[in-house]
Amino acid sequence: MMKARETAQKVRAGVITATQAAQDCLAQIEKLNPQLNAFLEIFGEEALARAAQIDAKPAAQRGALAGICVALKDNMEFAGHTMSCASRMLAGYKAVYNATVVERLLAADAIIIGRANMDEFAMGSSNENSAFGPVKNPLDLTRVSGGSSGGSAAAVAAGMVSLALGSDTGGSIRQPAAFCGVVGIKPTYGRVSRRGLAAFASSLDQIGPITADVEDNILALSVISGEDKNDSTCAARAPFAAENCEVKNLTVGVPQDFIKDLNPAIASALGKAKGVLQNKGVKFKDISLPHAKYALPAYYIVACSEASSNLARFDGLRYGHKAQDAKDLEDTYLKNRAAFGPEVKRRIMLGTYSLGSAHAQDYYLKAKKVCDVIRRDFELAFSGVDAILTPATPTTAFKLNDKNKDLLSLYLSDLYTVPANIAGVPAVSAPFGRDGDNLPIGLQVYGNYCEENKIYALAAALEGQW
Ligand code: GLN
Repeated sequence: MMKARETAQKVRAGVITATQAAQDCLAQIEKLNPQLNAFLEIFGEEALARAAQIDAKPAAQRGALAGICVALKDNMEFAGHTMSCASRMLAGYKAVYNATVVERLLAADAIIIGRANMDEFAMGSSNENSAFGPVKNPLDLTRVSGGSSGGSAAAVAAGMVSLALGSDTGGSIRQPAAFCGVVGIKPTYGRVSRRGLAAFASSLDQIGPITADVEDNILALSVISGEDKNDSTCAARAPFAAENCEVKNLTVGVPQDFIKDLNPAIASALGKAKGVLQNKGVKFKDISLPHAKYALPAYYIVACSEASSNLARFDGLRYGHKAQDAKDLEDTYLKNRAAFGPEVKRRIMLGTYSLGSAHAQDYYLKAKKVCDVIRRDFELAFSGVDAILTPATPTTAFKLNDKNKDLLSLYLSDLYTVPANIAGVPAVSAPFGRDGDNLPIGLQVYGNYCEENKIYALAAALEGQW
């Protein structure tokens, strides 16, 4: 499939029409979606109508993303369209306004082509927690796509679209990007507005683009990022602007204490990547992130606690599924809240427990203190290096149904991604090599606050070099 930037250039130059670009995407979606289940809904007619409007504009007025079809994760509001968070809880809900990212995509003349499947309320690492069935990995249909933005990553990997948006609370952009062999970034916390993103864990959630390569990712981030007066957690900064960044001036840290006991294929990819970067003049340093190993347990306490609070509004009285046959108040809550799937219920219960007055000191507040210590680890590390190189995931894409009975092993998928959300720093996952089963390996580059340019430059230097 054509790269997003090529589509936009050609549509702006009048070499192809937005209508042709949209038709190509729709044909590919129609062909592959029945197998992959990456899209929950396709806005076919509307996409073509929008494409015609873009084509009708004078060429000079066509936007930076002219004619690019975008898969929108089903937890972002697109006015007048269903948003389900892949949950039965939101059956029948239609968005009443546009998420800020949607506003920005539309203002740049992108075409939102459909709703991408995901784990229910973004809780999961395999997309098997969707109420509408798992997403299959386009590179091997017996394997998971990763999650929770599995539909977004699979749609890009399968060439259905050249750009998808995902959300990342603990790895949900980077892990599926790694499993599907595409590029995904979790930007700095506050880089991209969260207005119109269904909240999971508000102190960790961030929206980011998934694309086939780094350059497309840069283009997309420059459009969706920037200050938003309607989101108080969005930084008062100009949108991300691509800057040329020479990798030979950069020093990269490898946190040996955090990434020991690696799977051999991933260890060998990491070693090779180091060699490629060294050949390009990058300097390497061993660094230590002594508390990063506590990021995962701290994450599961903080994320569940915030989720239990954020999802309290879905009680069928204010928002969400309303049972018609409830006898009394307790029965009302039991029946209304039964619309959540098992993983969401589990997290709400765990979060409610760790926030309760009897336990908050031991769980939620302690986990927040651990987060502070991890943040300091990163501050210290970034005083000596420009970026940090790790694997994106401990394994490549696993088989469907392999881990959904063993929750701990599923939670471990986020081992290397979660620290970025806890520290609030950006991290990009990019494909580098294949394992013995010919599955893509994802490497990850962490950066300091708002230094997306450096990590993009390093990821670009690795592109196609394996
Ligand atoms: N897999 C992690 C979880 O289940 C991360 C989810 C996410 O980033 N949205 O919580």
